[in-house]
Amino acid sequence: MEVVGYGTQEASAKLSPLKFTREDPRAGEIAIEVTHCGVCHSDLHQARDDWDNTVWPCIPGHEVVGTVTAVGEGVTKFKVGDRAGIGCMVNSCQECDQCDMGHEQYCTGPKSCTLTYNGPKKPDGTNTYGGYSTGFVVREEFALTIPDAIDLEHAAPILCAGITTYQPMKYFGLKEGMTLGVAGIGGLGHMAVQIGKALGAKVVALTTSPGKKDAIEKLGADAVIDVNDGDAMEANAQTIDLIVNTIPYQHDLNPYLALMKAKSQIAVVGNFLGFDDLDTATMVFQHVGVTGSLIGGVADTQEVLELCAKHDIRPEIEMIRMDEINTAFERMQEEDVRFRHVIDMASLRDDKDAADKAVKIDDPVRGEVVGR
Ligand SMILES: [Zn+2]
Ligand SMILES: [Zn+2]
Repeated sequence: MEVVGYGTQEASAKLSPLKFTREDPRAGEIAIEVTHCGVCHSDLHQARDDWDNTVWPCIPGHEVVGTVTAVGEGVTKFKVGDRAGIGCMVNSCQECDQCDMGHEQYCTGPKSCTLTYNGPKKPDGTNTYGGYSTGFVVREEFALTIPDAIDLEHAAPILCAGITTYQPMKYFGLKEGMTLGVAGIGGLGHMAVQIGKALGAKVVALTTSPGKKDAIEKLGADAVIDVNDGDAMEANAQTIDLIVNTIPYQHDLNPYLALMKAKSQIAVVGNFLGFDDLDTATMVFQHVGVTGSLIGGVADTQEVLELCAKHDIRPEIEMIRMDEINTAFERMQEEDVRFRHVIDMASLRDDKDAADKAVKIDDPVRGEVVGR
């Protein structure tokens, strides 16, 4: 399958058209015509090599949805014409303890799980290319069924932003009678607010953008606290059972620690770069855990899709054309996006100019995407 994508071959370059071949689906695999792909903050970090682990070329995109165009032998979950989604993973060993528990993201197999783009943990000459592309091939175990009630463009952000915030709520048993704090109300946070409400919790939004207050209340938040307002923070000391911290860069965690009840948890899902001067005294005296959580397994991702369908939870999206991605990255960095960009992939499929000028990638394209 000839595919046109958008990616970059170096950290300082803008994303531009690239073309490559995805091999046709083998047994157990499906091909998808990508209709939409969400733009995650991690796409920007990865494309700019902020985590110092990018494998070039980098074609981002892990909120991928579309229509099944071909199925390999033995596929049972999908038929041609079905709608399907792909989140942050495309493969895992399927036999270790973590995979058995449905936590493929923590697979302990020899190659751990394979991420949807920038796949291999250790660069070994293979790579995976993500959903900023016109087509995708994946083993069916890693493809999600999109509930009928959800439009494809709204389904896309659930596949990373939805599951990443749902997972710690599920793990820590968030329910009615508990108070959830959501730190950072962007792509992930605005989903966390809605999911927390659906689970019956009181939801407190913690933001440094008080200008978003009305929009955040519309999402269902019971309270919106400006983290830079000392009085408001003090008034809410020791009131929160679980914070899902979606802030995607280094920041001071200590003001958030002061909000936590005894024996509570802060789950960090977006900052991979550490915290300076963590107030361990509060952590000890209040038994506050600071933990991490990475996306979520396939079954949990399907579960959050169904939850969103049942409770009418939808991401707030702004559709963009593929050739607007560089501007979208800049706006995301300036926090000028409310709340999620979604790429209309027809804009790339119909862009003859992009196909003509796309640079051909010669690397082995299959990589580990569909290897078993
Ligand atoms: Zn993401
Ligand atoms: Zn495994």
